[in-house]
Amino acid sequence: MPAFITLDRISKAFGQLKVVDELDLQIEKGEFVSLLGPSGSGKTTILMMLAGFIEPTSGEIRLENKRIDHLPAHRRNMGVVFQNYALFPHMTVAENVAFPLMMRGVSKAEAAERVSRAIDMVKLGHIKDRKPAQLSGGQQQRVALTRALVFEPSVVLMDEPLGALDKQLREHMQFELRELHRRLELTIVFVTHDQGEALTMSDRIAVFNAGRIEQLASPEAIYDRPNTRFVAEFIGETN
Ligand code: ADP
Repeated sequence: MPAFITLDRISKAFGQLKVVDELDLQIEKGEFVSLLGPSGSGKTTILMMLAGFIEPTSGEIRLENKRIDHLPAHRRNMGVVFQNYALFPHMTVAENVAFPLMMRGVSKAEAAERVSRAIDMVKLGHIKDRKPAQLSGGQQQRVALTRALVFEPSVVLMDEPLGALDKQLREHMQFELRELHRRLELTIVFVTHDQGEALTMSDRIAVFNAGRIEQLASPEAIYDRPNTRFVAEFIGETN
C-alpha cells in the first residue's frame, strides 16, 4: 500500500544553494513525525514544500497517492502552525479562527458551524470572545492551532510551534499536543531543533543533516541505536 504522504526524490535549490538533496520520506496516516536537526538543515524548506508555499526544484509529493506538488496551498487540505502565530489583535478568538474561512468565501452559516466545531475540539469555548491581548502565550498558541484545524485538514504541519514558550509551558503544551494528536487522529509533521521535544512527542523522527535524512526511526531506536556519528552527537547534545 502506498504511504499516506510520500516525498519522492525531492530536491530544492535557492540559486546555487542546494538545501534539500533527493530526499525520500514516507509518512503514514495518523503518525506524528518530527523533522529534527540543526538550524539550516532544510527542515522548514521541507515543510514549506509540503504546505505549497514553495515549489520543489525536482521530485514529487503525493498525498494518498495523488500528486499534490503542483497544487496551490489552499487546495492541499493542510493546516499550518508556525512559531509566530500572529493572531489579529483586534479580533476575538472566534473571529481569528473564522478568518481563513472568510478569506475563502465560506458562507457565514457554514463558517459559524465550523468555528464552533473547531473551538470545541480544542476546548476553547470559555475564551472564544476574548481578544489575543487577554490570552496567555499557551492560549494564543492553542488559538493558532484551532485556526489550522478549522478546515479539518488531513495533515497538520507545525514549524517550531512551541519555540516561543517558556520551558514549563512548553512541556505542558507538548503533553496537550500529544493528547490532541491521539484524540483527533491527526497526521502531524513537526519541525523542531529540540532533541528532547522530538524524543518525547514523536512516533518517528527524521534526523536532518545538510538537506538529507541521516536516520528515520522511532525515538527509542534513534536514542539507543543512532546509525551515524552525526546522529549520535546531535542526540547526545543537551539544550
Ligand atoms: P531549518 O529549518 O533546518 O533551519 P531551512 O529549511 O530554513 O533550515 O533552511 C535551509 C537552508 O536554506 C539555509 O541555508 C537557509 O539559509 C536556506 N534558505 C531557506 N530559504 C531560503 C530562501 N528563500 N532563499 C535562499 N536561501 C534560503
